[in-house]
Formats: sequence, C-alpha cells, structure tokens
Amino acid sequence: MPERTESESRRLLGRLRDAMASDEAGQARLNKITHLIADSMRSEVCSIYLFRDDVTLELCATEGLKPESVHQTRMKLGEGLVGRVAKSRQIINTPNAPGAKGFRYMPETGEEVFSSFLGIPVQRLGEALGVLVVQSREAREFSADEVYALEVVAMVLAEMTELGAFVGEGAALSARHQQPVLIRGTTGQEGAAEGHVWLHEPRVVVANPIADDPAVELKRLQNAVEELRVGVDKMLDMAAIGDKEQRQVLEAYRMFANSKGWMRRMEEDIARGLSAEAAVEKEQSLARSRIGQAQDSYLRERLSDLDDLSNRLLRILTGQGSETGAEMPADPILIARNIGPAELLDYGRSLRGIVLEEGSVGSHAAIVARALAIPLVVRAGRIISEALNGDHVMVDGDQGVVHLRPDDSVVTAFRDKIAMQADALERYASIRDKPAETRCGAVIGMHMNAGLMADLPSLDGSGAEGVGLFRTELQFLVRNKMPTRTELAALYARVLDAAHGKRVVFRTLDIGSDKVLPYMKPTDEPNPALGWRAIRVGLDKPGIMRMQLQALLRAANGRPLTVMFPFVAQFEEYRAARAEVDKTIAREKRLGHVLPETIEIGAMLETPSLAFAPQKFFDEVEFLSIGGNDLKQFFFAADRENERVRRRYDTLNVSFLSLIEKIVERCAISNTPLSFCGEDAGRPIEAMCLAAIGLRTLSMRPASIGPVKSLLRRVNLDEVRQVIADARHRGDMSVRPAIMEYLRAQG
Ligand code: PEP
Ligand code: MG
Repeated sequence: MPERTESESRRLLGRLRDAMASDEAGQARLNKITHLIADSMRSEVCSIYLFRDDVTLELCATEGLKPESVHQTRMKLGEGLVGRVAKSRQIINTPNAPGAKGFRYMPETGEEVFSSFLGIPVQRLGEALGVLVVQSREAREFSADEVYALEVVAMVLAEMTELGAFVGEGAALSARHQQPVLIRGTTGQEGAAEGHVWLHEPRVVVANPIADDPAVELKRLQNAVEELRVGVDKMLDMAAIGDKEQRQVLEAYRMFANSKGWMRRMEEDIARGLSAEAAVEKEQSLARSRIGQAQDSYLRERLSDLDDLSNRLLRILTGQGSETGAEMPADPILIARNIGPAELLDYGRSLRGIVLEEGSVGSHAAIVARALAIPLVVRAGRIISEALNGDHVMVDGDQGVVHLRPDDSVVTAFRDKIAMQADALERYASIRDKPAETRCGAVIGMHMNAGLMADLPSLDGSGAEGVGLFRTELQFLVRNKMPTRTELAALYARVLDAAHGKRVVFRTLDIGSDKVLPYMKPTDEPNPALGWRAIRVGLDKPGIMRMQLQALLRAANGRPLTVMFPFVAQFEEYRAARAEVDKTIAREKRLGHVLPETIEIGAMLETPSLAFAPQKFFDEVEFLSIGGNDLKQFFFAADRENERVRRRYDTLNVSFLSLIEKIVERCAISNTPLSFCGEDAGRPIEAMCLAAIGLRTLSMRPASIGPVKSLLRRVNLDEVRQVIADARHRGDMSVRPAIMEYLRAQG
C-alpha cells in the first residue's frame, strides 16, 4: 500500500467535490462517495454510518458490504466498533477487528471476511454526525498518513451533511435541521412563548470545504490569521490594566493566535485539499470534542478560548458576522450560547423568548430576562447546533423545555397552554385594582421588585402599590464602566418620575458574591457568597456608597426618599451606614441642594444573625425587608446558585417558618414595618403561608402579583394558620403537604 501523498489526497477531494456538484439524489451521491473513497484508499470496503436519531447510527451507504444491509443495519451509540467511534469521538484503527474490544459482528453485512478496520468520527463543531469506515481483508494497520487523509475526508463529509447534500429521494435520510427536536434545559424565567429563531451569533456556513487552489487558500489563511493577531493585540492594548482576568484571557488568545502547532496543522489540512475555512473548522471541531471530554476546568476554559478564536477566524475568512443581512423575525426567540446583560438589554422587549445553551439561573442575563418578563430557558444543550435562523420554536419557561420545529400535536397543546395563560392573565387583570384582601379581612400590601428602567412600565400594568425592592446594582452590572453620580441621579429621578408618587425602596449597591462588576477588580475569595459583599464593601470603601447616596438625595429633589441597606448582619453595620446617610445629608445641605421631603432608612434581613440582634436594633431601624433568597441559603447552608442543593430545603420547612415568625414577633414589639422581598413572595402558596404567619407586605416580580393576589383573595388566613400550627404540632418537617391537602379540600 503506497503512502498517501498530498496530491493523492487532493485528487480524492477533487473527485468528492465533483460528486457533490452533480445533480444526483442524495443516496446516489453517498454511494458514489463510498466508491470513490474505497477506490482511492485501495481498500475493499468503505461505509458511511450516519445518525438516525441521537443514539442510533444507520449504515447509509457502502462499497464492499452487502448492499441489502444499507438502511437496515443499525447500532446504538457505543455498540460495536462503529458505535464506539461515535461515542468516544476517537479513531479506531486495528488490523484485527474481530479481536478488538467491543467488536460486534453484523451478519447481514457480510463483514466477517474483513480483518482491518479504520473508523473515523464524522463531526462538525463538536457535534457527532456519523462514522466513516474503511475495511480490508488484509490484516494491517492503516498508516498515519492514511488516517490523516481520511480525517480530512470526514471533515468534508461533515460539511456536506450539514449542507444537506445527502438529502433527497431514495436517500432515506431526513434533512438535518428539519426534524422536530425537544430540548430540556432549566427554567430561567417562567412563561410560554412561540416565535421564530433569531441566532445571536449566526452560524458560519462553509459553502466550499474543498480548495480549488491550495496556494490561494494558504494565503487566505495567513492573511486572516494576521488580521486576527492584530485584533487580539488591539484588544489587549485596550483592556484595562487592572483587569487581571480579562488580560489573562486575552493573553491566552494571543498565545493561541501565535501557536505554531495550530497554524501548522491548518496548513497541512490545506495542503491535503481543504479550503482555509474548512481547515479552521476541522481544528475547531477537535477542540470542541475535547471540551466535552476535558475533566480539568482550566483546560476546558483554554479549549473554549480556542473555540472562540476559531469563530473569529471563520468570520474573518467568510465575511459572515452579525451583519449577515438576515432580518430579525417579527416574533424573535433569541438563541445564544451565552449573552451578557448589556447585549440582552439592547434587544429589549422585542424578544418573545430566550434560550441559552449555557447560562445559569443566577446569571445577569437571567436577571435581565426576568426584569423584562421574557420566558427564558438556560442550559438548553445542543440548541446552537440544532437551531437555524427562522425555525419555528416554542419555549416553555415553566418546564424549562424548548420545542424546536414542533410537530402539529405539540403546536396544538402548546397553544392551548398559552391560551390558558392568557385567560389567567385576563382574570388577574380584572383584580388588578382590587386589594389583596383575604376572606378573613387581612389586607396584604403587594409591591414589585425592579432594577431596570425596563421594569417600570409594570408598575401600572401589574397593579403594584410601589417598588418594594429596587436592586440598584443592576444598573452597574449592565454597563462596562462605573456610572457617574450625575448619571445615577438622573436615572433615579426617572425612576421616581415613573413611580408617580408610589413608594420606591432603593436598595444600595449589593455587589460581590455572584454580582461582580465587570470594571471592578475581582477579589479572589474562596466563598464569595460569605465574603466581601454588599454593605461590607460599602462600609470599607465608602466612596461609592457616598456617591450613590448623594445621587439618591439629588434624585429625590424634595420628594420622599426610601433607602435600604443590603446584607446587614449586625446592628453596628446599620448604625455605621446610617451615619453615612446623615453625613451625606449634612453635606448636601451645605452645598445648598434641596433635601428630600422625608427620608426612611431601612435594612434587609438576609442573615439569621440579624433576627437575633438586640431589640434596640428593631427600635432604631425604620423598616425591615426579609431577603428570603439569601436568608434561606444561609439558614440551611445551601448555596442558592448550586443546582444540586438549591431546591433541597423547602421554604415551608417548619424551622424556616419559625425563624420568619420570630422576625415578625420582634418587629411587632418595636412596631417596625416588615416586608418580604425574596422570590418566595411571588409563589402563591409560599406567599399565603407568609401572610398567615404575619407578613403584611410582600414584594415580588410584577408577573407574580396577579397569581399571588388571586389566591390571597380566596383564602382565610386564620384557617391556614391553624393548618400550620397542626402540622407543627404533629412534628411535620414541612407544612407543605398539610397546606396542599387543605387547599385541595377547599377546591
Ligand atoms: C434576597 O436575598 O432575597 C434578595 C431579595 O436579594 P437578592 O436576591 O438581590 O440577593
Ligand atoms: Mg439578597
């Protein structure tokens, strides 16, 4: 068997290109390709296996095996040598296939007479599409050169599959990107949405994977890499000197962009007949498949850097980028691997839904999606490779499920669900201006949480009585530089204008933990949630706190002002923060600024310690708001960001309710107004129990006000209180089962 020279490899690719250009049906093309490869490799057998569904491979064409086995022989992922290649994404090259681990004989193919086996994964950008196999009678191992040549062929096959070259009459192959797909992710924001796909970063399509002239392709690659290097250097020049993390990422980019090994491999691929973009994509595919296998998080990150760099290079080479000329559909569902909060805000309310392949429930993008009340599913694996611009898609934010190109039955069921939600919305609208008055006569104040200007239209629409929590850090998080005092003052003034006299509780900056400002030096803390955050930062670095307080005082400009400090763990911190307010007021007065008509200063109760502060604290603080999200994570020692534990403990756990009751009692003794502004306030059953144990003000996402109010107006809190007392008396761990039973009995 002669060594496979580069020119032979190019010749084979040239013949493949001719096969692709012919106007034959998909199956005829596939048959021709297996024939060409077997002939060129001088091996008796060449077969192409493609995925039928996520876990089943099907023999789709063969030269050398029995023709009647085509479209009949199937195997599961991991099954037999072919299944193993597909699963591991690793090449298998053996002179003795029957003796190899995992071998499974497929009698209908007649393969028993072939001893050597070479299987190459067919994959595109980390997505497995199938397996290319050559077999021969002679027991021999295929040479490194042959393997390499076949890898290049597999790359071209992957591109052809992507371009739909094998679809058509008689092919018994369904086109990719035409089948309905169901993808399960995690709920980021509830709600259902139907629309059409809008890819945040459009797929780069490599229309021609085979080079006409390697010299031209080589030049194209070199020019593109040069442009890439210049771009990375520029980014490094522009990166903030103090931003160690950003610089580290860019340094890694520079290292890759200058990597000789990376460049050499791409040059070799071009010499073998690939176009410049196909060579880049081949390397990128390799990196992607390694990302999936890498255990080490550092390595995974570096491979992701390489992936990102390859994307940039592909865009330079193909000229495809965000300006593809495609028009955003009227009902866009945004699909992205990940997205920053500022980019998401740029899209604004035009989006019907959002699906992120990565992302997390607590990410800034999720916070923005919630503020905009746009259904969001995060961790929707494979969505990027499956979705095409313009595809019909249904997002079920409640279940964390995405239906891509749904079939008719799914469409009908989904539309029913949307209609039911619309009915419910109508019902909620009818009680919008009515109080949340229970059957026993208690009236619960319904306020909303906000953080962006985009939230404020909900103040009227939801029937909220005010903003119970305005998370001021969001304005800091969505920018790439620190806002100025003047900017902040103007912004807060707009918030107060939009509130038309309704009370707005401005919470001072709650940064640190998961909320890291992009322009602040990140602190390297082992447990950031327990670290230097919120009021701790404010008191240690009072400059920002003073600036924010000044902006708030000026925004109020004679109107009432309410300020709340986050994460107060002991009395002293409240006193120190209050002293800052007093100092700032005095300074503003000296400078001749108009002071607010009234000023209320409160604190968030988010650590169990504050529930046990001296009673004097409850006397002094002007109001308290329970930050249930943090309070619960610290009470149960269960990270609210950690998917494994965040749902482990129930809010209706008797111990947690007892803590809340304790806070209610202590506030009652001092006559301190108390509210609850964690996520649980927006969950009807939890909200009902909170009201039953004495909370009279709740603050929640605007969309939750209707459902919560609707339930509150139908219940008798005295009865609910009794159910809770009985459950506690019985020694139940959580009152939820008893409450559910009670609600069922009530119909
Ligand atoms: C809370 O902790 O409950 C809260 C409302 O604040 P955040 O979610 O912003 O930490
Ligand atoms: Mg909090």
